[in-house]
Amino acid sequence: MSYKKDTICVQGGYTPGNGEPRQIPIYQSTTFKYATSADMGKLFDLEASGYFYTRLQNPTNDLVAAKLAELEGGTAAMLTSSGQAASFFSVFNVANCGDHVVSSSTIYGGTYNLFAVTMKKMGIDFTFVSPDCTKEDLDAAFRPNTKAVFGETIANPALCVLDIELFADAAHRHGVPLIIDNTFATPVNCRPIEWGADIVVHSTTKYIDGHGVSVGGAIIDSGKFDWLAHADKFPGLTTPDDSYHGIVYAEKFGKEGAFITKCTAQLMRDFGSIQSPQHAFYINLGLESLHVRMKRHCENGLAVAKFLKDDPRISWVSFCKLPGDKYYELAEKYLPNGGCGVVSFGVKGGRAAAEKFMSNLKLAAIETHVADARTCCLHPASATHRQMNDDELMAAGVSPDLVRFSCGLEDPEDLIADIKQALDNL
Ligand code: PLP
Repeated sequence: MSYKKDTICVQGGYTPGNGEPRQIPIYQSTTFKYATSADMGKLFDLEASGYFYTRLQNPTNDLVAAKLAELEGGTAAMLTSSGQAASFFSVFNVANCGDHVVSSSTIYGGTYNLFAVTMKKMGIDFTFVSPDCTKEDLDAAFRPNTKAVFGETIANPALCVLDIELFADAAHRHGVPLIIDNTFATPVNCRPIEWGADIVVHSTTKYIDGHGVSVGGAIIDSGKFDWLAHADKFPGLTTPDDSYHGIVYAEKFGKEGAFITKCTAQLMRDFGSIQSPQHAFYINLGLESLHVRMKRHCENGLAVAKFLKDDPRISWVSFCKLPGDKYYELAEKYLPNGGCGVVSFGVKGGRAAAEKFMSNLKLAAIETHVADARTCCLHPASATHRQMNDDELMAAGVSPDLVRFSCGLEDPEDLIADIKQALDNL
């Protein structure tokens, strides 16, 4: 039986048997016991499924990953220690030294740095394209060694809405998967797989946790990308893996399981960036109320955006669900029920005014964090994006005056009163 998203948020991933715990158990164990070495050997050969060491897999994590797979409409999922690990693994699972990836330029600053600096050092080249680019611009960005396309449903902090179908079509025309970071929209407001995305990643640290308690990430596979049909591009999935006695992931685990099995068996094994079972438990608590919280985050975001739009001390406002916003039409298509609670805007007077405004706020706290129950704000040009030069900032959609205001779950009248007094005291 298939359930609606709200029901999956509450009950997905885990159905206790008779007399079993109602809440998911936390398997706080690094290791698992077996009767014979042969039994364990089968796990090491990927001949049997099961757990042997929490650096690779843990049952609590898998229950929560199963809920996320169900929520996103995917076939397999895994949890990672952070959103950064999820983004890194999702790309590194298909792109190696000498390969190339096309990415939207308006992505989270940490992801941009991961791609443009750290992964470049590993020999993987990225071409950054505007999220507003045309089909022709996109096609021109591909090279023979391109292995993936990457973008964010709602970009942090530029708040552009990606035309997922346009990017998915381009990726598929060139025989590569589209990877979508769905952190800001969450599966409650958008399921990128329904629009053609092949892999979805999350920083679960944000709305999914929602209470600022645990750093984490997730990767969900749609199970739709046909690796064997593009075997020459993806030898890691379509040729024998010597470190597992010659297994060919795409043959043994099929379209539905190859990506996540390879990611777990190789990348988790070697990099060990797993989410702790305790944190998986926390994000499951967050998921249980995600559908209720997202509605309120979005309502608060819209109320704040409307107030800012009418205030003469504000130079511009970006909120995709605000009528007249540059991304309003795309948001109506991809995010019919709501986008997120984050509003970006400029205070007249530029960078100095933005900083003064933020220090005047009493309820909204200055934090690098975003997408939390408590309202918080950030000046990206001097924080998350400070490593970028002016041209890179513009390409990332971050103007020097941009304030990222993440509406929490408080009463919207109190949030607006706080913004008003901060503007009055400029
Ligand atoms: N993706 C997006 C859209 C983010 O906003 C962030 C962090 O802010 C990340 C990825 C990285 O996630 P984490 O901080 O959990 O590593």
